[in-house]
Amino acid sequence: MIRWNFDNSYARLPAGFYQRIEPVPVKAPRACIFNTRLAKDLWLTTDPALSETDLATLAGNTVPEGAEPLAQAYAGHQFGNFVMLGDGRAIVLGEHCPPDGRRFDIQLKGSGQTRYSRRGDGRAVLGPMLREYIISEAMAALGIPTTRSLAVVETGEPVYREKPLPGAVLTRIATSHIRVGTFQFAAACENTDMLQTLADYTIARHFPECRDCGNPYPGFYKKVIDLQAELIARWMNVGFIHGVMNTDNMAISGETIDYGPCAFMNTFNPLTVFSSIDYQGRYAYGNQPIMAQWNLARLAEAILPLLHPEPAQALKLAHEAIDSFPKIYLNHWLRGMRHKLGFNHALENDAALFEDLLKLMRVHRLDFTNTFRMLSHAVVHTYPPDQLPHSEDTAAWYLAWQIRLEREQALNPDWNTEKAQALMLATNPAYIPRNHRVEEALAAMVSNRDQAPLNLLLKALANPFSEKPEFAFLTEPPGLAEADYQTFCGT
Ligand code: AMP
Ligand code: MG
Repeated sequence: MIRWNFDNSYARLPAGFYQRIEPVPVKAPRACIFNTRLAKDLWLTTDPALSETDLATLAGNTVPEGAEPLAQAYAGHQFGNFVMLGDGRAIVLGEHCPPDGRRFDIQLKGSGQTRYSRRGDGRAVLGPMLREYIISEAMAALGIPTTRSLAVVETGEPVYREKPLPGAVLTRIATSHIRVGTFQFAAACENTDMLQTLADYTIARHFPECRDCGNPYPGFYKKVIDLQAELIARWMNVGFIHGVMNTDNMAISGETIDYGPCAFMNTFNPLTVFSSIDYQGRYAYGNQPIMAQWNLARLAEAILPLLHPEPAQALKLAHEAIDSFPKIYLNHWLRGMRHKLGFNHALENDAALFEDLLKLMRVHRLDFTNTFRMLSHAVVHTYPPDQLPHSEDTAAWYLAWQIRLEREQALNPDWNTEKAQALMLATNPAYIPRNHRVEEALAAMVSNRDQAPLNLLLKALANPFSEKPEFAFLTEPPGLAEADYQTFCGT
């Protein structure tokens, strides 16, 4: 039996920030998947089986004691266009506070219509909710900040898209759902009190250390920049493409949020786009850092009156901070790449070595994940691995890498290839949720009610750095099938 411990700070914000509304009950809830490990970590329950009451709560049929359900208001730039939005198919039940002092939003996604639904039905489909579960949990296992998935419950009701599909509710866990778009919403209300209330609330919840400064807001803004720079670098380092980096899908906490059209890249190509609606490639793999910076500039615009009472000074502060993004991002990215190639120290020409490898991968159409994993195995040998293409550029790069490894050892006499290998094997995953494998597992589950492929996939992705023969299917790239692969938003 789940033991919630709610304390709902967001519900104490002014009423304009949300609509108080209960989830709309569903016909026949049925547990599909429950994240026992996460439930345990959150001090919710150690029981792998859901009770009738838990099931009713996770379906939105009963509101647990202490919850104060609400749909949050926010705005956002969707593909560059400003829109007033809000939780159109999600409800935050409240904030669960385990005894260790942490605080988590418990959000039901697919829980029915709200004031913010516009023309949407407020519902979600089983396949995409399972997909979010798979990919968000894979991200967590990769050590990348992310919202988590506690459960997927089927509703027993059809959801009408092009055809009737099984409905589901996902329970999403987040350190908060405050977005860049939440600040844009407050700014659009043209009410500085509201904006300051939100900023103070966010600082108290996520960045209490900023309160020690005279003016906490520039410090707060810099923290958000740093967290986003690090997050995007982490995505880039594993080949993750978010797919819909609208400002409403950028969490102030620095967690990856909104797993609609996201996907992992197979063959390395910075132009990779999977989303069916991203016609211009705005959110292509290689554009992610610049789009993050663009979003952060929108955040600066929203909080401008807080940065400094003098508009010109505020603008100056904003510019300085936003202009620092590329360098901060690059440093995070370089650190990640160093670990991926077995180095701890920073050396001057590292960026060129990394860029050369990416160029090789592009020219020879290499699989991003498998190449780094293969190099992790190869690092203890002095000859190039067979799997690398036999070409002059590859041989030259391999030699440069070997020389760089020797320099690492010269800098640090304790360093050896075994240590480099341990670092690489702990940084370069063997398993990512490859699109074709995810689709296979979802098809088996949704069409044939066969949960075995999904369970196997989740098992492999829970320990992405530890190789086992039974998971070899996850290292196979999709081949030609990839060319047609598309992902979808708002499903
Ligand atoms: P997303 O593209 O998932 O970030 O969603 C953008 C906006 O559309 C958010 O405000 C969602 O709450 C809303 N939305 C997406 N799907 C639905 C739906 N089926 N019903 C109502 N609102 C939705
Ligand atoms: Mg969204």
